[in-house]
Amino acid sequence: MDQIIIEGLKIFAHHGVYREENEKGQNFYVNAVLETDTRQAGIMDDLDLSTNYGEVCVFIDHFLREHTYRLIETAAERTAEALLLRFPLIRRLTLEVRKPEAPIPLPFASVSVKIVRGWRRAYLSCGSNMGDREAHLDGAVEALRADEKCRVLRVSDWIETAPYGGVEQADFLNGAVMLDTLYTPSELLERLHEIEREHGRERKIHWGPRTLDLDILLYEDCVMCTEELTIPHADMANRDFVLKPLAQIAPYERHPLTGKSILQMCGELAAISSR
Ligand code: ATP
Ligand code: CA
Ligand code: CA
Repeated sequence: MDQIIIEGLKIFAHHGVYREENEKGQNFYVNAVLETDTRQAGIMDDLDLSTNYGEVCVFIDHFLREHTYRLIETAAERTAEALLLRFPLIRRLTLEVRKPEAPIPLPFASVSVKIVRGWRRAYLSCGSNMGDREAHLDGAVEALRADEKCRVLRVSDWIETAPYGGVEQADFLNGAVMLDTLYTPSELLERLHEIEREHGRERKIHWGPRTLDLDILLYEDCVMCTEELTIPHADMANRDFVLKPLAQIAPYERHPLTGKSILQMCGELAAISSR
């Protein structure tokens, strides 16, 4: 992706673990690499189509002078997030906060913290088979839309499906959502659990009836398996009710392990089911 680069932005601020640092202040220097598509702005010679680096510098300067953090890790983290929320065309950024006057009792040139943060593409599946199913699914999308760290990009139709996994229960309404998010996978899962709880979700029977179930299907091309989270969703290839709505909004997205497109996975599952 194209880059807009800011180097050595000097800011007098008060971040530090020691009280003296908070009282007296010192110089910090910020380097930023903003990943953004500059093509349209470049062709049209139009600043409105780009991110104004002057505004970005002023924003960083205000932000780091208005807040006081103990750690430059935190200064970098919060500034990066604030920038991504404030400047919608920045897809990703590298931010380095340097502190050359840090209280280190040895000769040194500089210390800094450098982080990469940005919007990540994720796909969710959602399902409900209790109460007002449509209201639960619509409510989940609304909650995601209201969350500044999520940008809902596409929502599939809600489709009626038969229950899966052998438990006798009512039919489901299922769908899929495409979003960009600033949450990490585990933060996103935590947020989804919160939304499920707001919709009265209880975990009683595994694969049993539920007001709302929100699963992470894909998260960029992330592959992970921890106790709490498996991405891509471990069973997605076997679930018609997951693949069908997902194919509506992302037919050519690929499973990062098998390399198969969603459309292809749909076709293969249909072939197995018709045997
Ligand atoms: P399934 O995961 O087979 O669809 P389920 O959705 O009914 O089953 P839940 O009771 O909703 O299962 O979730 C159980 C746990 O699964 C969650 O608490 C979460 O920690 C874990 N989990 C693992 N991978 C994922 C994922 N990709 N998305 C959501 N939850 C996941
Ligand atoms: Ca599920
Ligand atoms: Ca779940």
